[in-house]
Order: sequence, then structure tokens, then C-alpha cells
Amino acid sequence: MASVNPILIIGGGIGGLTTAVALLQRGLDVVVYEQAPVLREVGAGVQIGSNGTRVLFALGLERALRKLQVLPPRRQLRHWRTGETWNWFDLGAASVERFGTPHILMHRNDLHGILVEAVRALKPDAIKLGRKCVSLEQRADAVTAHFASGEAADGECLIGADGIHSQIRQCLFGAGKPEFTGSVAWRGLIAMERLPPHLSQLVTTNWLGPHGHVLHYPVRRGELMNFISIVERDDWRVESWIVEGTREELAADFRGWHADVHSFIDNIDTPYKWALLARGPMERWSKGRITLLGDACHPTLPFLGQGAVMAIEDAYVVAACLKRYSADPETAFARYEEIRKERTAAVVRKSHENRWHVFSPALADSGALAAEVARYWQQEHVKERLDWLYQYDATAIAV
Ligand SMILES: Cc1cc2nc3c(=O)[nH]c(=O)nc-3n(C[C@H](O)[C@H](O)[C@H](O)COP(=O)(O)OP(=O)(O)OC[C@H]3O[C@@H](n4cnc5c(N)ncnc54)[C@H](O)[C@@H]3O)c2cc1C
Repeated sequence: MASVNPILIIGGGIGGLTTAVALLQRGLDVVVYEQAPVLREVGAGVQIGSNGTRVLFALGLERALRKLQVLPPRRQLRHWRTGETWNWFDLGAASVERFGTPHILMHRNDLHGILVEAVRALKPDAIKLGRKCVSLEQRADAVTAHFASGEAADGECLIGADGIHSQIRQCLFGAGKPEFTGSVAWRGLIAMERLPPHLSQLVTTNWLGPHGHVLHYPVRRGELMNFISIVERDDWRVESWIVEGTREELAADFRGWHADVHSFIDNIDTPYKWALLARGPMERWSKGRITLLGDACHPTLPFLGQGAVMAIEDAYVVAACLKRYSADPETAFARYEEIRKERTAAVVRKSHENRWHVFSPALADSGALAAEVARYWQQEHVKERLDWLYQYDATAIAV
């Protein structure tokens, strides 16, 4: 860039840090401003489909990921009450053969740590902590971010990667109106050694049932099991990853479900609950020299497991655009938006639709559930539904 000012990234989550790695590797200067006083992700898992590992590998992170990831051989389905199990689809070598890169499972903190290390290896002082951005200004040739501490920083341009409650989105376009979906998500981690052998398998398991859904998968080399469940409930509307609930409340939400589900619940260290809110696609993500990325512009329900992966894809594309149009960030952001909007909108839409397949009152009946498995959840159908997601190559897009 002609200017001496760096690119400012607001938010040091998965999206902001991946963007920083991608930009620094292209020789562009960045500073990441993170509101938290210490660098840490929430204790939870994240699935990274082949479309996400394709980007992370292109950024040179394959070796670091391999030390901490789990490579599940397959995904299975279970019946909410009887516990009957069906093989759903193959992952492991089958994913690599089909898509070129694997589908992996990570502890969010491990992925975050790998990204922090990668940023600092390229620029040791790139991440500034305890900087909550509260307002912005932009001029014809620069932007200024103001922080709650009273400090300010000038930049060539700015990327708001500050998550679902984005302050940058609010500064640019107003607060928006999320809609409560009538569902609440629970999450928690379980030490694998506490689980009986038949539950400590290194596979991903989805439990189908009425009014709720349970998903569990191993993370951190298989030392922990990540548990997520979603239940229809309208008495909890707080959208936060850090609000604690109790095991008793979680167990009550899944009363009548198979004993194995309750073995997981009984062994969770701390269960956290999060109200699921939906937001429609935004008309624009950018204004002048400022754009948005990840959950800040296309937050999604978790029914495709692609929110973080979309932020990772965005990161690669926005970095490629800024490099290509380095004298003109406005054009770079317009091109980035053009490339990414349709795909991320499709993920948001399909994730919303998928909700009705993972839980519906009709699945209460055993026969209906088995018929649904035979109809909707066959490996061949899954390929049709998921190939468009996993085949996408953010690293090969012409910008
Ligand atoms: C139950 C559940 C399960 C999920 N499972 C998956 C999955 O398996 N796979 C997947 O791909 N995705 C999953 N997701 C989605 C995924 O968690 C998000 O899409 C992803 O974290 C978005 O990354 P981000 O960097 O955009 O935002 P965030 O991860 O939210 O990061 C934003 C960062 O910005 C900082 N920040 C916020 N405001 C400011 C400010 N004003 N100034 C400075 N810093 C600020 C925050 O502290 C944070 O560090 C799941 C989501 C849910 C709810």
C-alpha cells in the first residue's frame, strides 16, 4: 500500500486472526485490536470442513493443526429414545479423496492459539489487547478507530471482524433486529476418560429427535468430547457464549432421551447456554474504506457447522482483494463483497432450513424417524447437499 498506515482489524477471533495471517503473508501490514485483556477462545469445539482446511493449509498451518486435531473416520446418527445407531457418512480418508483436504475437529482454543502464533511469527506486536473499539471516522484517504480507553489508531482501511454483536456493523449500518428462533443451544466439554468405552469413540454423532438435537464430537487429540445440544424453548433469550447453566436444567431439557445422552450431560464440567437468534442477509457489508467479515456480517445458525469456516474463507478472499487492489481499498472491498455475499447468504439460508431436519415433532415416533433416516439422511443425498460447501476453493478464486 502506498500509505504508511496499517490495515486495522477489529476483533481477534478466528476470522480476525485468519485475516491477519493472510494479509501479513502477502506483505501487507496489519494491527489487530481485540477487546479482551487476554487471548483466549471459549471452551468449545469447532468442526472445520474440507473448505476450511483448504484455506488453513494454504496459509501453512497443516502441521500445527495436525498436532491437536481429531480426524474422525465417519459421522453417525442415533435415535433420541432407543439409541439405535446408523452410519451416516464417511469422513477421514474419504473426505481427503473427495475434496483434497480433510474434515477436522478442533478445540476452539487450540485453533485460536495456532492462529495467534502464526500472526506473531509474522509480526510479533501485531495484536493489541484490551482495545474495545467504540467508534470510527473515515476520511478520503484513511480511517481512525477510537477505543473505550480513549486511545485512537489510524489505518489505511479497516475490517470489522468483531463477531455477532459487531460494533463496527452498528457504526456503519445501525443495530439491526435479530429474531429469536425459539431454540436454545447448550454446550460443554467432557474429559474423555470419564466416559464409558462405548461413548468415548472418535466419531461425530448426531442424535435426531423431536423438539431437540444433540451433537457430540471429540477434540484435542481425543482428550475431550465436545457436546452441543439444541432444544426448543422460549424462556431464554440471551445470546452469549459465556452464560452458565446447570446440569440439572440441561438434563430437564432432554428428559426422556436415551441414557447415553444423560451420561454425557452428567459428565459435563460446566454447561453454557446460548439463545439462537436469526438475522437476515445484509444488503451491504462495506462503506468506503471499512468492511465487515465473519459473524459481523453473516452470522448463521449452527445447523451446518460453517460459521467459523465462512469467516476463514472471507479472510482469504479479503486479503487477496486487498493485495490485488492495494492502492484502492474501496474497490478491494467491493470485489470481496461481490465474491462472498451469495455463498454466505446460502449458508445462512440452508442452515436455517436444516434445523427442521435435525429436529421436528414428527421424529418422536420410531418408525417415522427410521423412515426419515432412509429418505433424507442417506450418504448419497448428503453428498448432493454438502458437496457445494466442501468443494468451494477460496484460495483459487480470481479476484
Ligand atoms: C452452538 C454453536 C456451534 C457452532 N459450531 C460451529 C462449527 O462446528 N463450525 C463452524 O465453522 N462454526 C461454528 N459455529 C459458528 C462460529 O462459532 C462463528 O461463526 C465464529 O466464531 C465467527 O468468527 P468471527 O471471528 O467472525 O467472530 P468471533 O469468533 O465472535 O470473534 C469476534 C472477536 O471480536 C472481539 N470483539 C468484539 N467486539 C469488539 C470490539 N468492539 N472491539 C474489539 N474487539 C471486539 C471479540 O472479543 C472476539 O474475540 C458455531 C456457533 C454456535 C452458536
